[in-house]
Amino acid sequence: MNPYESPWMDDDLRMLREAVSRFVETEMLPQEPRWRAEHRVDYATWRAVGEAGFLLMDVPSEYGGGGGDFRHEAVLYEETARRGISGFGQGVHSIAAHYVLNYGSEEQKQRWLPRMASGELVGAIAMTEPGAGSDLKGIRTKAVRDGDHYVVNGSKIFITNGSIATILMLVVRTDVADRKRGLSILMVETKDLAGYRVGRVLDKMGMTAQDTAELFFEDVRVPADCLLGGEEGKGMHQLMGDLPYERLTIALSGVAAMEGAVAETARYVKERKAFGQAIGDFQNTRFKLAEVTTITRVARTFVDRCIEQLVAGTLDTETAAMAKWWITDMQQQVMDECVQLHGGYGYMNEYLVCRMFADSRVQRIYGGTNEIMKELISRSV
Ligand SMILES: Cc1cc2nc3c(=O)[nH]c(=O)nc-3n(C[C@H](O)[C@H](O)[C@H](O)COP(=O)(O)OP(=O)(O)OC[C@H]3O[C@@H](n4cnc5c(N)ncnc54)[C@H](O)[C@@H]3O)c2cc1C
Repeated sequence: MNPYESPWMDDDLRMLREAVSRFVETEMLPQEPRWRAEHRVDYATWRAVGEAGFLLMDVPSEYGGGGGDFRHEAVLYEETARRGISGFGQGVHSIAAHYVLNYGSEEQKQRWLPRMASGELVGAIAMTEPGAGSDLKGIRTKAVRDGDHYVVNGSKIFITNGSIATILMLVVRTDVADRKRGLSILMVETKDLAGYRVGRVLDKMGMTAQDTAELFFEDVRVPADCLLGGEEGKGMHQLMGDLPYERLTIALSGVAAMEGAVAETARYVKERKAFGQAIGDFQNTRFKLAEVTTITRVARTFVDRCIEQLVAGTLDTETAAMAKWWITDMQQQVMDECVQLHGGYGYMNEYLVCRMFADSRVQRIYGGTNEIMKELISRSV
């Protein structure tokens, strides 16, 4: 079979991939078991990734970023996801930075982006609340203007990078009467912030290296100049504008994880023997591998097209939603087959496909559930 390479790759990106791949192998992969045991990635890693120049690669260099585009970012997503590294939350970090880039004032961009690019600040997106997940208009965390501050009260749940985040993209209600136009985004630096508390790091089915956490706000005073874009009531509009970017990062990680799992399974079935032959020689194994390889390639082709569209500025909400739901559904099917072909070993956490299987389940839930994706797509049909 012809080896496949994404059409958006070029010589510069190939060199970047080599450097990122080496970094991931030497600086990240050996630490993965510890991150899983400790349920968080340490700050030193964030700083190291920043120092290597691999954070915010698609943010202009005048703000400390890499000056590239989403193809550069994609390389890091791919090289981590295909090795099963699911705890390093560069996705939400990058997404939070893009809100600043796309909607922040010049002063806000200068204030936060360089420190996010260096890894000095670790970003999180704090939208979901116990009573508001899919239905964001139900957000109740309140920000009330008091002089040159907002006073924030409320709580958030399921926040990726929650316990280590030092800057939050916090969605708050600034108008209780208007469900839709009453939302705003505050960029909140959490260090020594009075009234701010990180609750439990939540005990999850998979992604155990990720510090998904609860956050609490009790009379937290946030300077008014942290209001993203400087105008209240723009939160929903800002969220809708940037969600395709988030959904593409989820789909892309899904494809890369499938590629990693299929490659690992193809290797495994050649070695494992039963009934006097390699299990890879059974017709069923060959057919299953043909199926997961086909699904993965179809997913890859679609996600590559989405990447090109994002770079060209033409990726629309519906197409990003299609990529997110279909690829993450397929990811779960592919992971399941890969576990099956590993037999009992596929159920053991020390095997990559086992961890990938458990990690993949949430891909259909976060970033907007797959049902919400279909809801969005159906409106355009
Ligand atoms: C590991 C993990 C990490 C996360 N990271 C973050 C994060 O960093 N930041 C953040 O803000 N949030 C995060 N989330 C939250 C995530 O985005 C929400 O869990 C998700 O949006 C769903 O919301 P919910 O859990 O309240 O489910 P609900 O909204 O209660 O949905 C329950 C079920 O009802 C279905 N449903 C709801 N509305 C409709 C509808 N209109 N039509 C059809 N079906 C519907 C859903 O699809 C789902 O199947 C994370 C969640 C997890 C598990």
